[in-house]
Amino acid sequence: MARIIKLILLGAPGAGKGTQAEIISEKYAIPAISTGAIIREAIQNGTEMGLSAKSYIESGALVPDEVVIGIIKDRLAQSDCENGFILDGFPRTVPQAAALDKMGVEITDVISIEVPDERILKRMGGRRVCKKCGATFHTEYKPSPNGDKCPCGAELTIRSDDDPAVVAQRLETYHEMTEPLKDFYAQKGLLKIVEGQEELEDTTALTQKALEG
Ligand code: ADP
Ligand code: ZN
Repeated sequence: MARIIKLILLGAPGAGKGTQAEIISEKYAIPAISTGAIIREAIQNGTEMGLSAKSYIESGALVPDEVVIGIIKDRLAQSDCENGFILDGFPRTVPQAAALDKMGVEITDVISIEVPDERILKRMGGRRVCKKCGATFHTEYKPSPNGDKCPCGAELTIRSDDDPAVVAQRLETYHEMTEPLKDFYAQKGLLKIVEGQEELEDTTALTQKALEG
């Protein structure tokens, strides 16, 4: 029997967490949970939570801890998380990590995907997202098989927070608020570092190695 994987993916915006989360999700048949995707969906649907989160996201700031902690609490209570899960984009602050502990969630693995800021700034311009189904692509690294359109048929769009000025702000937020989590999880003996590679497949292989030992 394979072990249960309860994985946290750390890494700057645009480091490739989301892509690795999807690959691991398929391979191990466990859900990949992205707080960013859940919040964007709420904004799209005009829910109360979405409305309150909108201004934070658009300026590259973090959404308040209590909001995302609530989102994760609800999501992890769903039955598909019983046999493991991947957290992509949560926790992003030390209080969020402490809240996971307090919920009694026993994380088995933490992988930090590391990419230099300069490379991230270059990469972000190519990111595309489907407004209808949420699928993500990259013009260079992960093109849609359907050209300018999503395989679902809808138009691909550029996220408003992928604007270069907002990306710079998100990187700053990452270094200040999220990077301290590396120490937090290193002290628990859970942290593994993966150097993000130019080729997606190479990052996937290194991530796999970090997970399987
Ligand atoms: P990326 O990893 O590329 O930054 P995400 O989709 O993970 O993209 O996040 C987009 C935005 O959603 C963040 O900039 C932030 O405003 C908000 N967000 C997502 N997850 C969290 C979180 N755990 N805590 C606070 N804000 C979050
Ligand atoms: Zn789509």
